[in-house]
Amino acid sequence: MRSRFAPSPSGRMHLGNGWAALACWLACRSAGGTIVLRIEDIDQARSRQEFIDLIPEDLAWLGLDWDEGPVKGGAYGPYVQSQRLARYDEVLAELAERRLIYPCYCTRKELQEAARIRRNAGPVYPGFCRNLTPEQCLERENSGRRPSLRVSFPPGEVTFNDLVLGPVTLHTSELGGDFPVRRTDGVHAYQLAVAVDDADMHVTQVIRGADILDSTPRQLRLFELLGEAPPSYGHVPLLVDHTGRKLSKTHKDLELAALRERGVRPEVVIGYLAYKSGLIDRYRPLHAGELLPEFSLPRLNRPPIEIEPDAEVVLARFSKK
Ligand code: GLU
Repeated sequence: MRSRFAPSPSGRMHLGNGWAALACWLACRSAGGTIVLRIEDIDQARSRQEFIDLIPEDLAWLGLDWDEGPVKGGAYGPYVQSQRLARYDEVLAELAERRLIYPCYCTRKELQEAARIRRNAGPVYPGFCRNLTPEQCLERENSGRRPSLRVSFPPGEVTFNDLVLGPVTLHTSELGGDFPVRRTDGVHAYQLAVAVDDADMHVTQVIRGADILDSTPRQLRLFELLGEAPPSYGHVPLLVDHTGRKLSKTHKDLELAALRERGVRPEVVIGYLAYKSGLIDRYRPLHAGELLPEFSLPRLNRPPIEIEPDAEVVLARFSKK
């Protein structure tokens, strides 16, 4: 088994990112697998070096180790997405050659207008550019338009067996239909980078937060087009605040580095997460390894995990005992 942590360095990692990493670590280590650390800085405008530098520090502080990654190296690097752009272009060229992707010249405004006219048909890509002739493409290029690249995602249901949730069925129309693999500004789409990396890094099991559940059918589609066997996917419950909002980097919620600076101990964080997620019945500080014997992914099939508003104070208090 090969699994991966794949954080985006768009902010300091928070308790929810720590939780996703813990779940991934438990699932992989309990099966004796290998863990890859991959830095998902595909969106350069949102990524910062200081956040990249903090990732290994945060993970190591929690006691979660990995086997391959940016500094460690490994057979399938580089493990930083911004160093893999040529590889994504190579895959796009291959897909274009096989006519599996097409240039799309639609503007956001045109797509919004199309959705409005079709009244509540949802933000499904209406297929305007799906069958453009080379002449029509040229015409659009000449009028100054730059294309994104889209991959076809024909209407239908996609079913997969989630390692946590069991069978999941989603309809491609709920997911927006044909989806971009490269943006107008040339930035590769998250869906493409993740699928290519998971394939290239021979990842066999993906454990991540439930907020990414609806990306899975798109990634499965890309695996199909790449002719590669997809990994298994498991989506763990998100950490939410008392209003039901998921923890976020932009809100600077419960950042791991901030907890550390406050004197919170990592065993307290692990014990707290284990208790809140139902892996143990009563809170106690512990090391991640102590959870291994009893761990199983289906035990995490439960609603979002609510974190109390004063969690930081609670964690700091537990750390003094
Ligand atoms: N980089 C994504 C994030 O930090 C995770 C992507 C994935 O696990 O597929 O939210």
